[in-house]
Amino acid sequence: MGNEERAKPKFIVLLGAPGAGKGTQAAYLEERLGIPHISSGDLFRENLRNETELGRLARAYMDRGELVPDEVTIAMVKERLAQPDCAGGAILDGFPRTIAQAQALEAILAEKGQRVGIVPYIKVSDEVLLARLAGRWTCRQCEAIYHELFSPPKVAGRCDVCGGELYQRADDTPETQRRRIEVYFQQTTPLIEYYRRQGLLVEIDGEQSVEQVRADLLAAIQQADC
Ligand code: ADP
Ligand code: AMP
Repeated sequence: MGNEERAKPKFIVLLGAPGAGKGTQAAYLEERLGIPHISSGDLFRENLRNETELGRLARAYMDRGELVPDEVTIAMVKERLAQPDCAGGAILDGFPRTIAQAQALEAILAEKGQRVGIVPYIKVSDEVLLARLAGRWTCRQCEAIYHELFSPPKVAGRCDVCGGELYQRADDTPETQRRRIEVYFQQTTPLIEYYRRQGLLVEIDGEQSVEQVRADLLAAIQQADC
């Protein structure tokens, strides 16, 4: 990794519907850019596993495919962004999902003299989203993401990275998938115009191979020099 990439903090907001490939790409960008991948969904799932009060509150919303209220979501992400590993930036995946969350993010970063540098929008059609969510498998230990057809693990049911057990997310049932996509269109798509108006949005064709999406993302981030 060149020094250039460490020069100034990079806050990257990955935008895209559930199943667009944000988590898949963020895992790669984290390694490539040396900044942490922060997934609000992963943070909630960690709270579910640890049976925290926040986890108990979030579960009801997550099981229905609805958004967890802004106030608790923002507080959770704010706490994560305050960790020292975020000094050089972060790749945000699944946050913000509402205009209120986007405004809160701006305020959190402004307090530290930082700002969002680029918002790649990974664009994928509804049919492709549903096919991706239906075949998604996730590692229980390290959250690595697989697809039973498009990116299968080397050994069925086992994570290539850590050997952990793979599972299908409780909210990847057909009904919840549809609801999550609806909620995305109602509550998150306004962010596309919000960030376009700020000159931060870059559209990425998410229906290409994982490798091509990765290459396009990296090129956009390098060009933005954020
Ligand atoms: P998101 O984080 O946006 O919800 P994921 O990264 O979890 O999406 O990807 C959803 C599913 O689609 C996973 O099973 C993943 O392996 C698969 N996937 C991601 N990107 C691609 C791609 N470019 N082509 C085919 N399958 C993909
Ligand atoms: P994800 O892993 O991004 O697909 O998120 C899984 C679920 O966690 C969502 O369906 C929501 O219930 C909840 N969630 C994740 N991120 C947010 C957010 N930014 N705002 C509200 N709810 C969220």
